[in-house]
Amino acid sequence: MQWTLASDIDGTLTGDREALDRLREKLQVKRDSSELYLILCTGRRLDQVTSGIAEEGLPQADAVICQVGTEIYLPPLGDDMPPMEAWRARLLEQYSRSEAEGFLAGIEGLRMQPDMFNTELKTSCYVDECPDPDAAAAEIRRRAAQQGDRYLVVYSSGRDLDILPAASGKGKAIRFLIEQRGLDLGRVVVAGDTGNDIAMFDELGRGVVVANAQPELRDYAQQSASDDVYQARHEFAAGVEEGLTHFGVLAG
Ligand SMILES: [Mg+2]
Repeated sequence: MQWTLASDIDGTLTGDREALDRLREKLQVKRDSSELYLILCTGRRLDQVTSGIAEEGLPQADAVICQVGTEIYLPPLGDDMPPMEAWRARLLEQYSRSEAEGFLAGIEGLRMQPDMFNTELKTSCYVDECPDPDAAAAEIRRRAAQQGDRYLVVYSSGRDLDILPAASGKGKAIRFLIEQRGLDLGRVVVAGDTGNDIAMFDELGRGVVVANAQPELRDYAQQSASDDVYQARHEFAAGVEEGLTHFGVLAG
């Protein structure tokens, strides 16, 4: 029986190289015997994922979801390859980059993220130098909500804020991929460490919160009161391994 693991990268897989090396070997054994479909699901760009696989010890993946769920890539991965067109076209139907930029107008202290993190489907800024970052995020959410339900505002770590198409986000991208590949939605485990990972837990239900997670995700896990949201005692990749063992994906 095949499981799907959809894991965030930074702060979830990375952070403890020794633990990541151990986890990567276990995941590869499962992939080699077709018992695991591995999705890397990240805010990174594709070339930062491929360089991470080459240099940071990240595992080989069966699919990569980049830019917080707005781009999907299938192997063989190449740095200049276009994202999956079916997903792109679906998201472009509801998203206007210029309208999204308008939600950020006049917010004191707000800084745009570098161009590489701003795409036709993702408008990203930092709010940590705003006088009240949480209030700034709330105001951006309020403005976005005035456009109906076309936009999703994701706020993480008291710093990163992304305006995405409402149909995107890490969780919906994973669901799209699982349905498209004919995988079992009932056998999915997600893993994460910050607020932009909450969408994965909301959409798929079962997951691992690593011990080093940001308060917003830890609070979510505590409030969910679900046995399917597992709070690991270990940090980083060791926490992911612990959670996968808990769910029976890896042998104890
Ligand atoms: Mg992370």
